[in-house]
Amino acid sequence: MTNPLWTLTLHGGAGGITRDVLTAEQDSAARRGLSAALAAGSQVLAADGTALDAVAAAVAVLEDDPPFNAGRGAVLTREGNISLDAAIMAGDRRAGAVAGVTATRNPVTLARAVMDEGTHVFLAGEGADAFSLVHGLEQAGEAWFVTPERRRQLAELQAAGAGAFDVDMKYGTVGAVARDVQGHVAAATSTGGVTGKRWGRIGDSPVIGAGTWADEGCAVSCTGSGETFLRIGVAHAIAARVRHLGEDAGTAAQAVLDEVVALGGTGGIIVVTLDGNTATRFSTKGMYRGHASSAAAPRVAIYGDE
Ligand code: ASP
Repeated sequence: MTNPLWTLTLHGGAGGITRDVLTAEQDSAARRGLSAALAAGSQVLAADGTALDAVAAAVAVLEDDPPFNAGRGAVLTREGNISLDAAIMAGDRRAGAVAGVTATRNPVTLARAVMDEGTHVFLAGEGADAFSLVHGLEQAGEAWFVTPERRRQLAELQAAGAGAFDVDMKYGTVGAVARDVQGHVAAATSTGGVTGKRWGRIGDSPVIGAGTWADEGCAVSCTGSGETFLRIGVAHAIAARVRHLGEDAGTAAQAVLDEVVALGGTGGIIVVTLDGNTATRFSTKGMYRGHASSAAAPRVAIYGDE
């Protein structure tokens, strides 16, 4: 079988997602959101656009969609605020990332602006918010980002006791990997982190090489227990296996996911290699996910048995 000309794979977070946890409405809202994101990214790729533009477009759609833990509908910090993290990277090693941002409607667009500006790779907090203003990106506030459901989830967590932390992480960090018609790959990831986070906590998602990576061999986006993914450098570890050991996407992703689990972590990974080979792997009960290519109709899934 010949490889597809272009390919796009998405995730909307991995966690304890089973049919008895989601209502029918939640199930269909997530599927609608994933389908819309696949359509946005596919449109770019089908028109010979770049993998970079495609992953940014797909992630921005999910950021605007309340069921997912990124942008609008991001989970809340212990103080009830939002603090958003995002990263984007192209196979030619251009990269941009932001952490702890509070005012840009689409954090992935801010990460992209950091990358395009080219001086720095990783901006955080107030400085990143200021960079966003200087570059004229669309701003948004609490009325846009914070949803009643996230307030309810924070209250539920706080009722469980001081220091409680969302260990189940079923709320949906988002990410995309793509390969375009020219054979370039790119990855992007965006998240609100974990419910009830404090002390300026940052997970793996915006950290280049941990939650997001692209190089001459593949592109990777992760979701899961950020503290474990950080200590393994998951996305880079997968890329190193692909480049140095010649492993395919699935073999490399599974090997590194096994390391995450051995270290007590959990989560999911999407990978695309330069030849368009893709893999989705997760250690959790479910993972919001989707795939489309020039050779295959779009497909979305949530549960482990799909
Ligand atoms: N990895 C994200 C973080 O640690 C959370 C997630 O993927 O759900 O911030």
